[in-house]
Amino acid sequence: MIEDIKKTLAKYWGYDDFLPSQKRAMECVGRGTDSIVVLPTGGGKSLCFQAPAVIMQGLTVVVSPLISLMKDQVDALRECGISAARIDSSLSADEQQAVYSALHSRELKLLYLSPERLVSDGFVEMLGSMKLSLIAIDEAHCVSMWGHDFRPEYRQLGMLKKMFPDVTIGAYTATATEQVRHDIAEQLNLKDPEMLVGSFDRPNLVYKIRRRTNKVKQVCAVLDRHKGESGIIYCIRRKDVDGMFSHLSAKGYNILPYHAGMADEDRKKNQDLFINEKVDTIVATIAFGMGIDKSNVRYVVHTGMPKSLEHYQQETGRAGRDGLEAECCLFYSGGDYGTWKSLMSDMQPESYKIAMVKLNHMYNYCTGGACRHKAILRYFGQDLDKDNCAACDMCLGEMDCLDNALETAQKILSCVVRLEQRFGGGYTALVLTGSNDKRILENNHDALSTYGLLSDYSKHTVHDWIEQLEGQDYLRKVGDYNVLNITEKGLQVLKGNETPRLLKPAEKPAKASRVVEDSWEGVDRGLFEALRKLRTTIARKKGVPAYIVFGDATLRDMARLRPSDHTRLLEVKGVGEKKSRQYGDVVVATIKDYCKAHSIDMDVDRRRM
Ligand code: ADP
Repeated sequence: MIEDIKKTLAKYWGYDDFLPSQKRAMECVGRGTDSIVVLPTGGGKSLCFQAPAVIMQGLTVVVSPLISLMKDQVDALRECGISAARIDSSLSADEQQAVYSALHSRELKLLYLSPERLVSDGFVEMLGSMKLSLIAIDEAHCVSMWGHDFRPEYRQLGMLKKMFPDVTIGAYTATATEQVRHDIAEQLNLKDPEMLVGSFDRPNLVYKIRRRTNKVKQVCAVLDRHKGESGIIYCIRRKDVDGMFSHLSAKGYNILPYHAGMADEDRKKNQDLFINEKVDTIVATIAFGMGIDKSNVRYVVHTGMPKSLEHYQQETGRAGRDGLEAECCLFYSGGDYGTWKSLMSDMQPESYKIAMVKLNHMYNYCTGGACRHKAILRYFGQDLDKDNCAACDMCLGEMDCLDNALETAQKILSCVVRLEQRFGGGYTALVLTGSNDKRILENNHDALSTYGLLSDYSKHTVHDWIEQLEGQDYLRKVGDYNVLNITEKGLQVLKGNETPRLLKPAEKPAKASRVVEDSWEGVDRGLFEALRKLRTTIARKKGVPAYIVFGDATLRDMARLRPSDHTRLLEVKGVGEKKSRQYGDVVVATIKDYCKAHSIDMDVDRRRM
């Protein structure tokens, strides 16, 4: 069976191999074993049930929590030439009727439904009269109260195993702790399910974390590196979204806002404009993102620290679903810690305790000096099998370790002592850098022995170190005013018994990310841009999002191999038979014109690259 699936992958999707874990997940379906498949976003979960569905006899029913997700997947399947449909409340009576006819004439291979529709009386009965090949539960963590997105409707899915004991069930999710996985198995009444847990690492995401200094300037620098590409900027509060939106739109960026305080129709409009690539960037609270399957998000910026690493992973996870490089920049400040703490203050004591543990992990992650990929994986209980990820600010050498970290830390901690542990980080940084700020002069703090001890550095750098010391537990912020106190560990530094790790921006230019270099290798960028324009024209004419026509990875492969006819075009990853027939003529013509105008070769042999 797996050989047949491989042929299907090539014929319909234009892929020549499986992604890690896909093969095992598909084998389970082929064998008729129930399974729980946990793969990160972009791990290729949908193909795990879609590809077997195409070759198996009968209908695969897919349960999905959101209309937008169903629509996206059904559109993508149809573009590949696979007979798929969805039934949901957004369809007109005529459209629904057409789906029922297709069902009865056994034409459909995949049917997408919401959980409540599937378990409704008439529907279960109707399905009982059909041959079912598989029931796939997408976003399966929704079944568990321990998951982050519990949906009571998912609970009723437990009846499916009773109604259809001989039909295999596959549950798919990107986020599931062991507890959630067991809960999924139990709630769905799965029969000895195989648990497949892939690596949570997203090697194509380049993580960069900096202290926030000038927010707008820092964000603009990211946007300028990604002109004309899609991206998301996350802010903690609605008012931050509005502020950032007005700054950036005044500067001429092609950007729109999104948050829960806006009217539903405005939010929907902005989301659609983003998906259809009429706007490059969305600035949003975390209300934005669920149900967005857009594969070519090239950057995600956080203008404030998220409240947990789970949130950070989920939000950054929206970048680079197509497997190509994407940049994830987080600008944090110690103030964010305080903001979250006060936003959480009315939680129940037990929940507050858990939330604070998560918040502390997040803060330590920001201020810590370890490989960002490794640190996230460790948090989720996995390990990275290499020393240098080549895809984070630490491993790319954007930050250097300070040689005299002990001495510098001692200067900072002594200053905290001289200030009688009564001032915050910003003020302490001003004293250490020898500022003439009015408050310092009024307090006579220019007379302290530690005044100006770090005047070779900017106040931002020194404040950054103070926060790094706090993140490593040498300092603690106390009370409503976040005054700095020295911890037991901090005292050890003063005695010279322990040396903290302090980082500063590197003086020499950072290495380019290998992830970026590899994914552009052999690609003619001019041709890539020409093909991108062509894709936009096709997508607008058809009324589907651009990434449904061709993903960015496919366009790059076209601009790398530069095929001169339909047969060669099929060698491009992501071009199956239907797409080659449908778009082959215009794609090949665009490639020919470009190559002629620029005198470059066509029909490049992948093996010779
Ligand atoms: P997930 O649902 O796990 O987030 P998707 O199913 O959306 O992931 O797949 C992520 C991306 O990877 C999509 O662009 C998809 O077309 C691509 N993809 C899936 N399987 C393969 C494969 N075998 N080879 C190459 N690309 C693949």
